[in-house]
Amino acid sequence: MEIEAIPAFRDNYLWLARAGRTAIVVDPGDAAPVAARLHECGLRLAAILITHHHADHVGGLVKLAGTYAAPVYGPAHEAIEGVTHPVREGDWVELTDWEEAPPLRFQVLEVPGHTLGHVAYYRPNTLFCGDTLFGAGCGRLFEGTPQQMWGSLARLAALPPDTLVYCAHEYTESNLQFAAVADPDNPALAERRRQVAELRAAGRPSVPFRLAEELATNPFLRAGEPALRAAAAGMSGRQPESATDSFAMLRAWKDAFRA
Ligand code: ZN
Ligand code: FE
Repeated sequence: MEIEAIPAFRDNYLWLARAGRTAIVVDPGDAAPVAARLHECGLRLAAILITHHHADHVGGLVKLAGTYAAPVYGPAHEAIEGVTHPVREGDWVELTDWEEAPPLRFQVLEVPGHTLGHVAYYRPNTLFCGDTLFGAGCGRLFEGTPQQMWGSLARLAALPPDTLVYCAHEYTESNLQFAAVADPDNPALAERRRQVAELRAAGRPSVPFRLAEELATNPFLRAGEPALRAAAAGMSGRQPESATDSFAMLRAWKDAFRA
């Protein structure tokens, strides 16, 4: 399976995974660039996977599903027009219409926080996590509580460290500016900033990235570490009561942060 990013809007990545002449797309916020790429490569759309209901993730799904008669998998706990296969925790997406070692299987993980019904799709080495985990950051809490997001991030963090994370936005460089303030003495973070600046200057995506890299540099995944607890305390003037509390404080700080 090969996975490529189709850039859309300001900073979205629509992920196209392909094998032979079959393809799937994750979170097609816009139909046009996906259809163009399918046409250009002579690909058949075998399925659409949706992580959550926001327009920049679902905007192109009805049009694409109609054009290609593709099944649409999406979170059972969100109302999304065009979803034909609602999925929930414990479900597997199984695609027999796939040219490489079918069926193509993904495990469904419910990861509430950014939205209440948000799901992620996982198979060994590959995670499509929508707006839950970002490079050096995490999604804003539009619907869920800090407790829910912390639990969701903890689940993702427990996946194998060599997992490649395909998130839906190119936010890494901007997230790293906050990370550098919240976690200034982390040498892995300084090194990552250098690497990501180089990638972006060359016009290349910073996504996917390895989960191991996030574990070492993402201030939200590291919210329970002494350095991040101290930063949260320094910013708010009170000691966090728990890792979850520290996460909540860091998330609120980041919401108000301007580089
Ligand atoms: Zn979103
Ligand atoms: Fe988004």
